[in-house]
Amino acid sequence: MSVVSYEQLRAELAPCALHEPAGGYAPVPVTERLAQAIWFDQRLKRDGLQTADGRRVQVVSPGWWNLEAGPDFRRAVIAFDNAKPQLGDVEVHLHSADWHQHGHTRDRLYDNVILHVALWRRGEQPATTATGRALPQLLMADQLDAPLDQLYDSIDPESYPYDLDSHVGACEPALKPASPETIAALLEDAGLSRLRTKARRLTRWIQRAGIEQALYAAVMEALGFKHNKEPMRRLAERLPVARLRELPAVQAQALLLGVAGFLPERTVAGRDEATRRYVKRLWDVWWKVRDELADRLLSRDEWRLAGLRPANFPWRRLAAVAQLLAAHWELWPKIADALDSQPEPKRAARLASLFTDLEDAYWSGRFSFGSKPRPEPELLIGAARARDIVVNVLLPVAVAQGKLLEQPSLIEAAEKVFAAHPPLESNALIRFTAHRLFGQRVPPRLLRTAARQQGLLQIFHDFCLSDRSACERCRFPELARQFVAKQVAS
Ligand code: SF4
Repeated sequence: MSVVSYEQLRAELAPCALHEPAGGYAPVPVTERLAQAIWFDQRLKRDGLQTADGRRVQVVSPGWWNLEAGPDFRRAVIAFDNAKPQLGDVEVHLHSADWHQHGHTRDRLYDNVILHVALWRRGEQPATTATGRALPQLLMADQLDAPLDQLYDSIDPESYPYDLDSHVGACEPALKPASPETIAALLEDAGLSRLRTKARRLTRWIQRAGIEQALYAAVMEALGFKHNKEPMRRLAERLPVARLRELPAVQAQALLLGVAGFLPERTVAGRDEATRRYVKRLWDVWWKVRDELADRLLSRDEWRLAGLRPANFPWRRLAAVAQLLAAHWELWPKIADALDSQPEPKRAARLASLFTDLEDAYWSGRFSFGSKPRPEPELLIGAARARDIVVNVLLPVAVAQGKLLEQPSLIEAAEKVFAAHPPLESNALIRFTAHRLFGQRVPPRLLRTAARQQGLLQIFHDFCLSDRSACERCRFPELARQFVAKQVAS
């Protein structure tokens, strides 16, 4: 057995290139993260910046450091040859040939890249997107604002992107004098605004399709999470709740899995007895309806499965929806009841339990058709996802219904649950916005409610997302200053 050291593994996973400093000191190991930090900090001769083919480049904003799948920087704003600035993504590598070596030429996640940045040239192959669009390349090595070994000494790549006070937004100074209570009040206000915005969107859904269809479609969308939102929403349109809700769970599963494109072949030789029996039951239903539903089928390509935890595979989510339809539909009376009859502290948990209580004879113990049964059953919808649905779907629906039914007590109850709801799982957008607004000084207990997290997201969507001016024209600093002044005065 070969002995592998941590150093060796690290070099394989995160390769670096050696740079020989002109002064003859020890070679400098340059990682891709250092190249990203150089781009993020724009340690470049910004006045004469050029692409490899001689186009002038003006970087209005280097973009946001992306910690998820896809390009390194999102929503950069860059002008080429004095033309109108473009908004798009930027990918940074050590060598120009890395674009091909990393497979970005075929990866649709890189379709919105507008500039490929590399520290050094290697090879002559042009960078192209999956759509065949040729990308301008910017080679940084000859355009740095200081020798590379000096940059290496002055930049600590481990502190990027959030562990430092550079790259805070223009709103950070406006919020600096605010007390933790004032900041909490600002975020709660913004969070409430997000709840009401969602309620307005759902009001239109309810008026158009009825409360149960609107709820079903919104729950399906939420169960698709970020990767499969769209196909889940399409499935909810193609198989409306009215078509499913009278059916026993296994029949609803046959329709949902069949239209989604997940039903396996009828002959499942080699799989275990329980799978053979279950698939047969599904097909007993499916073959009778498949001609009628033929024009509604989704293709497997519409779903994104890569990177999903097996417990979250969409077929398990659909099995859960079928159980939900069988157990709870109509769902709205259950929500109204939880908000009305439960003692206040128990309301959020009661709402979440509508999802966490769901079980299925086959799917509670499996992640895929024919996979090995789990030693212990696994929730069809986990607690974190259930809480997410409560905050992002059920409470906004309750606010919408309160308006439509002219029941202010319903709105009040939903807003109270929202204000006190414990935090949801954090995500890259929350961390990004918190860093832009507060730098490193995010008060430790600030984000201890979902409402405040939602407030950050609302500020992100209202201001950061529409900003193309590197904060210059953003109105949020002014709004924050006024809010802080009013709080101090009151
Ligand atoms: S765009 Fe506006 S809200 Fe976002 S960081 Fe800049 S100043 Fe702050």
